[in-house]
Amino acid sequence: MAERGNISIHAQNIMPVIKRWLYSDKDIFLREMVSNGCDAIAKCKVLARSGKVPQEDDYRVDVIVDSEKGTLKIVDNGIGMTADEVKRFIAQVAFSGAEEFLKKYKPEEGENSGIIGHFGLGFYSAFMVSDKVTIDTLSWQPGEKAVRWESEDGMSYEMSDSDRTQRGTTITLHISREDEEYLKLWTVRSTLEKYCSFMPVEIYLSEEKPLEEPKEGEEAPKPREPEKVNDTHPLWLKRPADVTDEEYREFYHKVFHDYDEPLFWIHLNAEYPFNLKGILYFPRIRNEFTSGEGLVKLYNNQVFVADNIKEVIPEFLMLLKGAIDCPDLPLNVSRSFLQNDGYVKKMSAYITRKVADRLVSEFTEKREDYQKYWDDIHPFVKYGCIRDAKFYDRVKDAILFKTVDGSYMTIAEYLEKNCPQAADADEDKPEQVVCYASDPKRQAQMIDLYKAQGKDVVLMDTMIDNNFMSFLEYGAGRDDRLRFKRVDAALDGLTEDEQADETVRELLEKKFRKALGQEDLEVKLSSFKSEELPAMITVDEESRRMSEMSRAWGRGGFEMPEKRALTLNQRHPLIRRLAASGDGELDDMLCQQVMDLSEMARSPLESERMVAFLKRSNRILTLLAERA
Ligand code: ADP
Ligand code: MG
Repeated sequence: MAERGNISIHAQNIMPVIKRWLYSDKDIFLREMVSNGCDAIAKCKVLARSGKVPQEDDYRVDVIVDSEKGTLKIVDNGIGMTADEVKRFIAQVAFSGAEEFLKKYKPEEGENSGIIGHFGLGFYSAFMVSDKVTIDTLSWQPGEKAVRWESEDGMSYEMSDSDRTQRGTTITLHISREDEEYLKLWTVRSTLEKYCSFMPVEIYLSEEKPLEEPKEGEEAPKPREPEKVNDTHPLWLKRPADVTDEEYREFYHKVFHDYDEPLFWIHLNAEYPFNLKGILYFPRIRNEFTSGEGLVKLYNNQVFVADNIKEVIPEFLMLLKGAIDCPDLPLNVSRSFLQNDGYVKKMSAYITRKVADRLVSEFTEKREDYQKYWDDIHPFVKYGCIRDAKFYDRVKDAILFKTVDGSYMTIAEYLEKNCPQAADADEDKPEQVVCYASDPKRQAQMIDLYKAQGKDVVLMDTMIDNNFMSFLEYGAGRDDRLRFKRVDAALDGLTEDEQADETVRELLEKKFRKALGQEDLEVKLSSFKSEELPAMITVDEESRRMSEMSRAWGRGGFEMPEKRALTLNQRHPLIRRLAASGDGELDDMLCQQVMDLSEMARSPLESERMVAFLKRSNRILTLLAERA
């Protein structure tokens, strides 16, 4: 006789909520069904160890698609359930879990992704895609009868006898019309690949199809073999010493579908103070805008949980690709809980530390190789330093600066070579200047001046570099004496310590202002070591960075102006002449020419200015020819 009953706890309130919340991640129902099967088998193995059930070795979970009948079956040969257990576990416990979940997690406005879709809602997630769910189960316990449980809405159910004869459980999902995609073999396959690729029990996918009638004289077609969809021994669970480089690479290609070779990898293998296993790969980063989306996969006991959970994996490590398995992670709780959880924080710190240590060992032990992939990893390392002071502390000596000539130096090496006098803490020479270029083509002339003095110019040409320099100068990475100056900012080491005559400077400033019609032009006077160059436009480093920043943020269209000056070389004959001669058309032209040339050394002239420049150049040549 069939027994009827009602599920007691506020099912009417909860079911719609579950359905709505999980909508974006509907496919987790399959993970829940399959992992319940794996759990049932795990329990069976425990019983077998104590001799309660016979030992066997063909434990498996089968996922069977039957598009004719419109069902998806999940079959396991685990411990099964007694009628009583079905009533207790299926009809009650899951709901109490859901209630707790509701209490702990209050979704924020517009939040529907991330961890919310990954709660162990368990069995009831089946109703997200089903019109009816049937359980046929036979418990391992001697003398028990097989039972059938059936429910259309997850709210009321019917129980009766089942014809199942083998120990274990079959869950039959009668897939609803709008979820028909789960009756397609490839959808089911890709969902299994997503969530179940590394589950600890063998999982097979097959399709129930009426066999075609054999044609005359032919053998009956054989049913297709079920295909195995998972790897029960993921690489991260092996001991690092037992894994070859080839295996690491193969795993990388397979799991991340990235056919580039990874640069290197870190095998995390901790049992104490927490259980954490995983492999993190440093991918080749093609450009700094590549977002690190969906790349660090989090597993809980070989069950896929989510990509990129930033509470566990520090955000800056999201540029890496990898798999992390934390069996002890309390995943059935809300994101805000994870954020405040000391355990999670420690784990995240541990991962960061491992990554930093690996970078340092690459740097110290394989500097050549490290230099080769520095171009790939530097945005990540710099970003990490800015985001995490502890990470910076660990890696700071392994940070490289690439010079415009393509060599690599640490900051210490740069300073030792380029500012030897600054190395001793001399109060009078408080600054240690690192000279850099942000655009080596445009700054070629200035770079050349430095090179002529035997100075190295480093390349700071990516988005992160401005922030990184500020971080080293003023941020947590602060070194009071260290200053970065662009090649057009400082003229450090390019000029002699020669006092300029202020009256001469004033005179020249007046002259240039008049000739150029620029009343606010600032003119500076110094003695360049290079005697060929009459003048240069110099830009104050700080004001330029501020200006760049305000442009980047685009705040209200307001742009901070950068402080520029025309710096004249008082040793140059042309400047000397301008300082000595009176006013005149030629002097005006020379001033304009000096200015235009200085500008052109930085960037191309606007078209009108270019036309004027060309005209003037020809005039000067003509004058020259007439005088010769
Ligand atoms: P959880 O797996 O987190 O305990 P579920 O809602 O997924 O929650 O399952 C509730 C309970 O139902 C399980 O703890 C288990 O006792 C029982 N159960 C579910 N599926 C199976 C199965 N395939 N075989 C045996 N027991 C099962
Ligand atoms: Mg479960």
